[in-house]
Amino acid sequence: MSPLKIAVIGTGYVGLTTAAAFSHFGHQITGVDIESERIDALNDGQVPIYEPGLGELIEEGTDAGRLRFTTDHAAAVSDADVVFVTVGSPTTARGTADLSYVDAAFRQLAPSLQPGTVVVIKSTVPVGSTHQMRALLSDLRPDLDVDVAANPEFLRQGRAVEDLLDPDRLVVGADSDHALAVLRQVYAPILESDTAVDAVFTDPAGAELIKYGSNAYLAVKLSFINEMADLSEETGANIEDVARGIGLDPRIGPAFLQAGPGFGGSCLPKDTQALLHSGRAHGVPSRLVAAAIDVNEARKRQMLNRIDTAVDGPLGDATIAVLGITFKAGTDDLRESPAVDIVRRLIGLGTRVKVTDPEGMDNARITIPAAEYFEDPYDAIDGADAVVIATEWPEFAKLDLARIGELAAHPVVVDLRNLIDPAAAEAAGLRYTSIGRPRSSAG
Ligand code: NAD
Repeated sequence: MSPLKIAVIGTGYVGLTTAAAFSHFGHQITGVDIESERIDALNDGQVPIYEPGLGELIEEGTDAGRLRFTTDHAAAVSDADVVFVTVGSPTTARGTADLSYVDAAFRQLAPSLQPGTVVVIKSTVPVGSTHQMRALLSDLRPDLDVDVAANPEFLRQGRAVEDLLDPDRLVVGADSDHALAVLRQVYAPILESDTAVDAVFTDPAGAELIKYGSNAYLAVKLSFINEMADLSEETGANIEDVARGIGLDPRIGPAFLQAGPGFGGSCLPKDTQALLHSGRAHGVPSRLVAAAIDVNEARKRQMLNRIDTAVDGPLGDATIAVLGITFKAGTDDLRESPAVDIVRRLIGLGTRVKVTDPEGMDNARITIPAAEYFEDPYDAIDGADAVVIATEWPEFAKLDLARIGELAAHPVVVDLRNLIDPAAAEAAGLRYTSIGRPRSSAG
């Protein structure tokens, strides 16, 4: 493989892991960010986000002289063969994808682009955005005929490193042979390995829609299994058995069939909203996606009702221990976390909320200063009228149930992630409720 010079614009969850993975492939990488504190931290050897294995991968790249970080777009872009744009694409107040960061990044990189450099959008952007950005570059740099390609990212936070080094698929949307050839070179180590990745080479619109379609499908699956969990509760079925039985069908598969407090995170909520708006804009309403969003919104409210039902007396007078604040285990990311939603709703009622989380507390202290934070889960549980398990950190599955019963003011556990065995909870004397399961194995 001949190494390429690559600029990665944005060093967030996607950009930083992408930069580190590309340097591991042997390329020469410059990661760029507008946040100078983040770049200073990276240049000091600190990793500004929690992602298992990322620190080691960054160290490998920087030690080998293949990975460096800067706030200087021009320096990074001017000698790059490829520029990857990985900045955020959040949601506007109307629910559409906010492309202002992508637009700003293109405006910053445009003056330094050289002939032949390929610009690749890795950010999740609505169908048509890649062509829109190419038109912007043509306006800004009429002297250049720049290729802009789409290469959406499918990494899972908490497993980003393994997903980038050994992805389940590669999706490239390119209009020109040159862009295609350059992207093949970027990904040569995984395209040409013995266990070559499955790749889809298509046009930019196809690549853009594959990304939104994938996330929308996952959201539909989650809302579906959450509805099945509600039906299980009413009928006495056990959602764990139901989900396993459904997921054993290879046409369906077991992933994303875990019932819980509703989907959250940095991708599914915003990408379903954006797809809904794209569909409307093109006169093709996505009714299934709309239903998945509605079910999810209702679910967040239901979670509070569950806690209210489990607690003796008004919630506003209660102390609640919330175990887990990140949107899922394995990350420090709080974006659209169901746990954050629950904590905020509780605080709004006047509830005293005691939070613990293995990785998310630094971010949580900033996001929800009104909650109290405890490193040790047992300190959070001490004196609580109920314990709510809101994130599926494996640490919480190992807690001593008898000790929870002793420490809590009332031995009430609301397990929104089905982490604890209902029979064990009952044996420990806990008043235990979970999602879609009978109260105990005997129930
Ligand atoms: P993030 O917020 O963690 O990172 C974005 C980074 O870009 C920030 O560090 C920000 O300071 C930087 N930035 C913003 N404007 C910039 C500019 N003009 N120049 C340089 N840096 C700039 O976001 P993320 O989670 O990494 O997501 C990035 C994109 O990837 C989004 O479109 C998202 O939808 C998509 N995506 C995310 C995930 C995920 O799991 N997080 C997975 C797949 C795809």
